[in-house]
Amino acid sequence: MAVRVRFAPSPTGSLHLGNALTAVANRRFADERAGVLVLRIDDTDPKRTVEGGEEAILQDLEWLGIGFDEDSVRQSERGELYAMAAERAIASQAAERDPEDAVRLRGGGATLLRADGSATYQLASVVDDLTLGITHVIRGSDHRPNLELQQRMARAIGGELPEVIHHGLVLGTDGKKLSKRHGHASIADLRDEGFPPEAVRAYLDELGLPDHDVHLDLARLRRLATDAIAAMGDEELAAAAQAPLEAVPVLRGARSLVEAREYAKIVVEPDRVDLPSEAQVTLERFAELRTVAPEHLSPDEARAVLRELKAVGGDLRSLRLALTGAAKGPELWAVLAAVPRDEALARARRAVSA
Ligand code: GLU
Repeated sequence: MAVRVRFAPSPTGSLHLGNALTAVANRRFADERAGVLVLRIDDTDPKRTVEGGEEAILQDLEWLGIGFDEDSVRQSERGELYAMAAERAIASQAAERDPEDAVRLRGGGATLLRADGSATYQLASVVDDLTLGITHVIRGSDHRPNLELQQRMARAIGGELPEVIHHGLVLGTDGKKLSKRHGHASIADLRDEGFPPEAVRAYLDELGLPDHDVHLDLARLRRLATDAIAAMGDEELAAAAQAPLEAVPVLRGARSLVEAREYAKIVVEPDRVDLPSEAQVTLERFAELRTVAPEHLSPDEARAVLRELKAVGGDLRSLRLALTGAAKGPELWAVLAAVPRDEALARARRAVSA
């Protein structure tokens, strides 16, 4: 039987890392079996529906590179299907209508339809899993308590729940449930913190389908971010950092895209500095060396200029301040490789002209 899986977020806003793990795991499960992945929006509970929440999720999924193979399904548009399923359960005596008009399972009491006729999450989820021909439900272990009830509901409406695989949750580094307080709890947080999507995706792929809850391993995620930045092509990296192509030599050493943007600013429009007159000698030496070197320096040429400057007693700290306006930042040779000759000379002049 062809594999069909679904990712079923409630539209509560940007995906938590654990939900993103569910999405990635479903995508991989389908891909490895030439199967189909469907996006189902679980929007039957107005309390859990946040304005803009669905858009945020769609943006996250696209950012992570997770595509879907069929049109998405929205639970709020499928009320009729759920009502019909509840009628079937009543007809087969598996469920009954209570005096308030809600439909409940016999002997157990779980609600299928509320008194106002709307379906509960449990019923809607089961009806969708059956009618969409889902073969495997893959979701977080926080849904384990729903399993037995959903199996009974499936039987009550004349079907059988597909195989269900629960995976461990992603907890904060402190082992507590991920929350806003932790930062980096949601995909939007990680994006804002400058993690490249490739790194987040690679991290979630590495986690696979954990049997038990896992603690977020920030060090690993950061390592993957550095790797992802190093692996980007020049144009891709410049675009990701919103920087001009010439800034690429400094961007390469950044540990996040936020840091890459800071580095780019150093190259493009550094803060002005006024250096004490002691810096003059260094900057004049630098100007002599830089004038006779090519307009754009390769990494080796840039290192050679620095070597020669040091050899004549130049103070690299002053040079860094003059070129970048800051005491710290990307490696100095990378700055030299990113800033063209005339601009470098102008900055050196400007820093001691006050
Ligand atoms: N809407 C549920 C959630 O976001 C999905 C539950 C399921 O996958 O069955 O947790």
